[in-house]
Amino acid sequence: MLFEKRPRVLMPKRLAGVAPRSALAYRGSMAAARKPKTASPDAAPYDVIIVGGGFVGGTLALTLAKQAPKGFRIALVDAAPPSSGKSVRKDPRGLALSAATKNLFEAIGLWPAVEKNAQPIRSIEITDSPLNASLRPHLLGFDDEMKSGEPDAYLVEAGELLRAVCDAVAKEKRINCFAPETVSEFDIDGFGVRVHLASDATLKGQLLVAADGKRSGLRQRAGIKTIGWAYPQAGIVATVAHERPHHGKAVQHFLPAGPFAILPLNGDRSSIVWSEEPERAQQLMAGSEDAFVAELTRRFGHRLGEITLDGPRQSFPLELQIARAFVADRLALVGDAAHAVHPLAGQGLNIGMRDVAALAETVVETARLGLDIGSPTTLERYQRWRRFDSAFSATVMDGINRLFSNDNVSLRGVRALGLGLVDRAPRLKRFLVREAAGGTGDVPRLLKGEGL
Ligand SMILES: Cc1cc2nc3c(=O)[nH]c(=O)nc-3n(C[C@H](O)[C@H](O)[C@H](O)COP(=O)(O)OP(=O)(O)OC[C@H]3O[C@@H](n4cnc5c(N)ncnc54)[C@H](O)[C@@H]3O)c2cc1C
Repeated sequence: MLFEKRPRVLMPKRLAGVAPRSALAYRGSMAAARKPKTASPDAAPYDVIIVGGGFVGGTLALTLAKQAPKGFRIALVDAAPPSSGKSVRKDPRGLALSAATKNLFEAIGLWPAVEKNAQPIRSIEITDSPLNASLRPHLLGFDDEMKSGEPDAYLVEAGELLRAVCDAVAKEKRINCFAPETVSEFDIDGFGVRVHLASDATLKGQLLVAADGKRSGLRQRAGIKTIGWAYPQAGIVATVAHERPHHGKAVQHFLPAGPFAILPLNGDRSSIVWSEEPERAQQLMAGSEDAFVAELTRRFGHRLGEITLDGPRQSFPLELQIARAFVADRLALVGDAAHAVHPLAGQGLNIGMRDVAALAETVVETARLGLDIGSPTTLERYQRWRRFDSAFSATVMDGINRLFSNDNVSLRGVRALGLGLVDRAPRLKRFLVREAAGGTGDVPRLLKGEGL
């Protein structure tokens, strides 16, 4: 039964570590809505209301639409207009998708649209040297370990991925989209959630999901604190075209200012993720294109011939951030709203897709039993599944960044020894490839390619 039909009774016992009830209502602080919207609100209640229709929120909406029992209804609210058809949100990032994310996309019928623009990663090389080193010795490589069957990772352009998600959402009858639109207030009690939109409409549902990114307004208004810190680094991203083919090889140079990644895109193009000191990054962004390409070439090298910029460059602040709780009363956090990690291993979005698969599995199983999908028991199961795993991944990436982003000679020696040993241990390398592909641990069924 849904919200409006039930009598009011006492609140269920609060979940451990969640915000107090009084923090779960907020009013008027989010940006005003812009017209037009893609759906008009109606009085019929939804099962799930997702705020944030980016990669993670959009994929969650699609997954529930495909897997939940008959009659299940989803509302999707996003502050930006949908990115579909010819109107694609500008985002110069290349995103590495793990094999597990690909499995999820296959299960919900999204993979054919994504695959059109996806470049398989066939090998990985890792080097560690000062910027001016004449040689960058190969320290660790993954080549044979990645050739056992299907590719373990793919590179896609962020704008194209978002377009594929938005196009699929637009076709799905069980999803009602409200975009561009924002939430001005939400109220939660033991039986349901009421979400008041900036346009004055009200949506009712059983479960509210915050997929509104790193600066999640829903998380803040729910009083959920975060743990973390800003890195003394900015992530510069750009796409480059080059003269020679990359043969699907991804390269990670650990330079003293931070990791510099060359990630293969389809065609003779690569995506760059360049971690740099924030002030230096600002100068590079403000300088001329020629000066930028000259600095880029110092790091990129000449292996693939001459390089040219193929699109805009952008700089992102980098930080580690983990929400202290992934759930509150009738609220679940997913994606960057729950955790933001250093991009050095290209895992942020893939961790978000683990949230999607875990929450979808939890919600669908609960709905099939006719139970309350927003109950503390349901949400606690999701939180148990995802919080430790996300915090662990964030910590590993933080540790790698700290170990490598410096010019300390003794640490360089330790790194060379450690990576050299890993390079000579084929079983360990296969395990690491499986780990990066998202195939280890308590993997949700959709990520293993199984239906719910
Ligand atoms: C430089 C860089 C490189 C990266 N590379 C990789 C990679 O290779 N592989 C990988 O897996 N990850 C990578 N990541 C991480 C990845 O980009 C993020 O994890 C991912 O974008 C998170 O998706 P999301 O949907 O949770 O959040 P977002 O992408 O931030 O989407 C949030 C959505 O919420 C909407 N929204 C925001 N506020 C509101 C509001 N108030 N009301 C309604 N809607 C709202 C926004 O419009 C947006 O659509 C990288 C990150 C960076 C910075």
